[in-house]
Amino acid sequence: MARTHAQWKAFSSEIQIEGRAFIDGQYVNAADGRSFDCINPATGDKLASIAWAGEHEVEQAVTAARRAFDNGGWSDLPPLARGRILKRFAALIREHRDELALLETLDAGKPIGDTTTVDVPGAAYCVEWFAEAIDKIGGEVAPVDPKLVGLVTREAIGVVAAVVPWNFPILMASWKFGPALAAGNALILKPSEKSPLTAIRLAALAKQAGIPDGIFQVLPGAGDVGKRLAMHMDIDCIAFTGSTGVGKLIAADAAQSNLKRVWLELGGKSPNIVLSDCPDIARAARTAAGAIFYNMGEMCTAGSRLLVQEDIKDAFIAEFKKAAAGFYPGDPLDPASGMGAIVDRIQYDKVLSYIDKAKSEGAELVCGGKATHTDTGLFIEPTAFVCQRPDMTICREEIFGPVLSIITFKDVEEAIRIANDTEYGLAAAVWTSNVTTAHQVSRRLRAGTVWVNCYDEGGDMNFPFGGFKQSGNGRDKSLHALEKYTELKSTLIKL
Ligand code: NAP
Ligand code: MG
Repeated sequence: MARTHAQWKAFSSEIQIEGRAFIDGQYVNAADGRSFDCINPATGDKLASIAWAGEHEVEQAVTAARRAFDNGGWSDLPPLARGRILKRFAALIREHRDELALLETLDAGKPIGDTTTVDVPGAAYCVEWFAEAIDKIGGEVAPVDPKLVGLVTREAIGVVAAVVPWNFPILMASWKFGPALAAGNALILKPSEKSPLTAIRLAALAKQAGIPDGIFQVLPGAGDVGKRLAMHMDIDCIAFTGSTGVGKLIAADAAQSNLKRVWLELGGKSPNIVLSDCPDIARAARTAAGAIFYNMGEMCTAGSRLLVQEDIKDAFIAEFKKAAAGFYPGDPLDPASGMGAIVDRIQYDKVLSYIDKAKSEGAELVCGGKATHTDTGLFIEPTAFVCQRPDMTICREEIFGPVLSIITFKDVEEAIRIANDTEYGLAAAVWTSNVTTAHQVSRRLRAGTVWVNCYDEGGDMNFPFGGFKQSGNGRDKSLHALEKYTELKSTLIKL
């Protein structure tokens, strides 16, 4: 039975929160005693003290990971056995759904209605999907001179570091550790300092599931921990989700150290194009509101640029305003809240400064535009502006908050030109009733995912997720994600 607002509040007052790092099968404080406060953005209350991993913890974790990988206790398990342990891990995530969802909601301000239905079940599904995949894919026997046998196989890469953001803390982490662990690697997870709680809790569940010590470790801390991992000479691969700026630093650090493999899932400024032959304006407007306001707009795929054809602009905006009202923020612990709190003060100030910038550049406010519930926490109204020019600041920079830029266009050519005129290429959408237009436009949009007459569909693990251009390289999800965590090997045997 789903809990009520009052029941979630009661649960939150009694939950025990672990804040220590998890190294070699044990929770530990930082040796130098450093810690930082974990704050609930909806109330300003301190939730826990979190261990801040330093050089000592990074060295310990890498040594433990290296040993656990090299002894073969994980990488050399039969795939079926590794899969069984991972399925147990997935089942434990599901069993602890409410606890993990509550931690995520308290830590990051995300609505409990979402963390219970999307984030936590999504993480369990990801682990289970990769667990089920690994005994079903094999290598190749390559055509070669008959005096030889030629095998092409994939094997685990070794020690993998995963550095993840705060917008979907458990889910983005699972997109890394699901395939990385399934492929047989040892993994060190660095959650964002803004949202470390679920990662820390997961470590104990991983151990309970039977994942050997040193194979799943968690190092909380700030960007300095990520940098140490990126620079480390004994880490074989770093998988990152976060901003394009930090992604570039990680790529440079990897290049300067040991050329560890680098996989980057970065930012976006995704266009959602509504053509005047859109099949259903009301549904398109509701979807457009969800595309920007879901998760407070803290979405890498946020449909943050709405391109609407001139002749339907007024009808579209009227419907959009109605839909936006449904996202008015409220207590994240209330299952009825459309949006929760902005993750922290830094992000909150950043979003408000973009709203000010839009106003000062002359954008026309359609809805929202201010902070709300300022006596309790960090809440911002669902906000949209009509932008007279596609080069206004809020049309170009990733805001990562509930702020939409609406841009009009005359014809399809202009829409495609504006849509692709960005350094990013994570996602895009087009709304049309014409199947030919749908195919032609999707083909020309430079983005890793294109939706037609929908947005944010495809929670299925089968679809690769990632970006063109400066939205990154490589893909999370799907069997292609396994490739990131393996090396290819050719073995030639003379008969
Ligand atoms: P961020 O500031 O780039 O941080 C991401 C992670 O990197 C955090 O764990 C952060 O630690 C760490 N970090 C910071 N500086 C580092 C450094 N110099 N070296 C190594 N690691 C470092 O991004 P964010 O603000 O957390 O997340 C928002 C961004 O993520 C947006 O741009 C969004 O589009 C992107 N995102 C992309 C996807 C995707 O799949 N493409 C999905 C979700 C989010 P601290 O937070 O502790 O400083
Ligand atoms: Mg927090």
